[in-house]
Amino acid sequence: MAVSGLGAYDDQNIFARILRGEIPCRKVYEDSWALAFDDISPQAPVHVLVIPKGRWVSIADFTAHASEAEIAGFWRAVGAVGKQLGLEPAGYRLLVNTGEDGGQEVAHLHVHLFGGRPLGRMLERPAGG
Ligand code: 5GP
Repeated sequence: MAVSGLGAYDDQNIFARILRGEIPCRKVYEDSWALAFDDISPQAPVHVLVIPKGRWVSIADFTAHASEAEIAGFWRAVGAVGKQLGLEPAGYRLLVNTGEDGGQEVAHLHVHLFGGRPLGRMLERPAGG
């Protein structure tokens, strides 16, 4: 179920629990700002989630309230994941679902990183739309 990108942070959300080591993940990268791990339900040959270590509900929350250092550190980590996975020559796609229309289901900011094949159109087109 989609969530608001503007609600209060819930320390029991699934990614908070992964950050605390309470739930396992297949880690692909970690630094002081971010953790990256395989999505449990991959939608491309490479589908990694990159999450900040801070308690941010969404990109709206993060960009409004995080420090310059955390914002810079997080986005550098996202780029480092693409590089570490060897995706830079072929390319990759980033996606940040935000709030209900964006289809955000976990209320801890996460960047989807997709790659490993040509990824096609950016958005699904509804019939007649
Ligand atoms: P959203 O729709 O919020 O942008 O994406 C949430 C993503 O989290 C989905 O792609 C979903 O497969 C992934 N996910 C949900 N629960 C877990 C989990 O427990 N572990 C991992 N690795 N991914 C999860």
